Amino acid sequence: MAKKIVKKTKSASAKKTARPKATAVKSKPAAAKPVKKKVVKGFGANDLKYFKGIITEKRKEILEELAILKESMMDVTTGEYASENSTYSTHMEQGTDAMEREKTFLFASREGKFLNYLDDALKRIDKGTYGFCINCGKLIPKARLEAVPHAQLCIECKNLKKGSM
Ligand SMILES: [Zn+2]
Repeated sequence: MAKKIVKKTKSASAKKTARPKATAVKSKPAAAKPVKKKVVKGFGANDLKYFKGIITEKRKEILEELAILKESMMDVTTGEYASENSTYSTHMEQGTDAMEREKTFLFASREGKFLNYLDDALKRIDKGTYGFCINCGKLIPKARLEAVPHAQLCIECKNLKKGSM
């Protein structure tokens, strides 16, 4: 009777402890390395520097354009024309004024949006999330980022978004 009981507890405890031990020992050294490799790597420091350069250059250009626009808008509001516009009749002038102002405003707001995208891209470079599609998480190809350095979506996701709109 006593023998049977010993056998039961032995086999039961052996089964319970043996299985997790075996898998734990096997998986520990093997899993440690692949886990690090599986993480999708973003662009390296050199690439990020390169993109940062492109973005900061574009940013400067836009800031300069916006500064010029601001000056021209000031001229419009004060009504002081330094250009050939002064030859227009007052009647015509008012019409073109409104149109020009609207155009300038639209252009300025578009540039402002672009500026936001560029600022966002710079933030993402600092955070280390730059180059990843914000929709699917895949790394955006370098060629696309060279053409559109502020791109937040890969081409597939961008096309999907266009299709839904
Ligand atoms: Zn994507």
